[in-house]
Amino acid sequence: KDLLANRVKTLTPSATLAITAKAKELKAQGIDVIGLGAGEPDFNTPKNILDAAAESMYAGHTKYTPSGGLPALKQAIIDKLARDNNLEYKQNEIIVGIGAKHVLYTLFQVILNEGDEVIIPIPYWVSYPEQVKLAGGVPVYVESTSKQNFKITAAQLRDAATEKTKAVIINSPSNPSGMVYTREELAELAQVAVEKDLLIVSDEIYEKLLYNGLEHFSIAELSEEVKKRTIVVNGVAKSHSMTGWRIGYAAGDADIIKPMTDLASHSTSNPTTTSQYATIEAYNGPQDSVEEMRKAFEGRLETIYPKLNAIPGFHVIKPQGAFYLLPDVAEAARKTGYGSVDDFATALLTEANVAVVPGSGFGVPSTVRLSYATSLELLEEAVRRMDNFVKSKW
Ligand code: PLP
Repeated sequence: KDLLANRVKTLTPSATLAITAKAKELKAQGIDVIGLGAGEPDFNTPKNILDAAAESMYAGHTKYTPSGGLPALKQAIIDKLARDNNLEYKQNEIIVGIGAKHVLYTLFQVILNEGDEVIIPIPYWVSYPEQVKLAGGVPVYVESTSKQNFKITAAQLRDAATEKTKAVIINSPSNPSGMVYTREELAELAQVAVEKDLLIVSDEIYEKLLYNGLEHFSIAELSEEVKKRTIVVNGVAKSHSMTGWRIGYAAGDADIIKPMTDLASHSTSNPTTTSQYATIEAYNGPQDSVEEMRKAFEGRLETIYPKLNAIPGFHVIKPQGAFYLLPDVAEAARKTGYGSVDDFATALLTEANVAVVPGSGFGVPSTVRLSYATSLELLEEAVRRMDNFVKSKW
């Protein structure tokens, strides 16, 4: 008999985690590797949040909670969505889960039947296609090139939607491109979603990391009609530097949130109780640290972007949000004698000792993704190393 179920046979490990593991392995051998693969802020979680978590434990809040999250946390999320996004939700329209990642996983399990299509814009976050496939769905990719600033158009969405299309995923600001859809662009995409009767999965996890004065706009804000078909997914991992706490949430129609909560009741029971208390403080407490971290990211971007773009054969569009740069390095790879960007990325790791993620994992094989969630000193040193590496082989 087959040991494994068919559903895991095509499962690939996350490209981001793979390169991080390889970089750690080299570091353990004593090699001075600069890791630019990680997708997490390098700051500690703000102290008021740590204190609230500790206090909750000593107050005895160490037991199971309701599956969809503590009512007080749901309320803090409801208040946040009203305050930041002009969105009104009720308790039964919110589910708290184990990071935005698992919330998305649960969502696809709940909305997809075998063969249902989900439109995923390229470049995409590595987990979308795998999660869709695990739920029996079929990823349908719509390519946005660097010429269109890595954003799909309404016409492309219209062309890609079929009778079988259940949903479209919008991730703005985007991992890996850092691009942000304007309100007008979102309105055009939403119009197609309404026309074609699609759900909109709006992954807004990088909401708080926007640069150059840009302000976040949630597609669900467009109208009641759009809000009803949108599931807003967000969390505190990137905004409050809380990746390890594993708290994310979805806000949407109660008809979808209810089965998600029921599924959670049989799979996870509840997100970690202490983390939920920490998140109540993250949303109800002072928000200064969120802005401080954003400013630090913007400072790094301003310094590092021109230097990266100046490396021969690197072509970068300046990101508007998140903390990634997605240079097209096809020319650099070719001119330095590598057959593919994947091979070039491997050489950057083993020879220049800089870990970047090959863009093939995001559907853009001519690029690599660099995270600037690390100190400016290390970023500058990494760029110097890559510059020397390319120039030495050119
Ligand atoms: N969505 C995107 C686009 C991400 O980049 C990430 C994290 O890398 C997540 C969701 C998951 O966030 P969380 O840590 O809350 O699971």
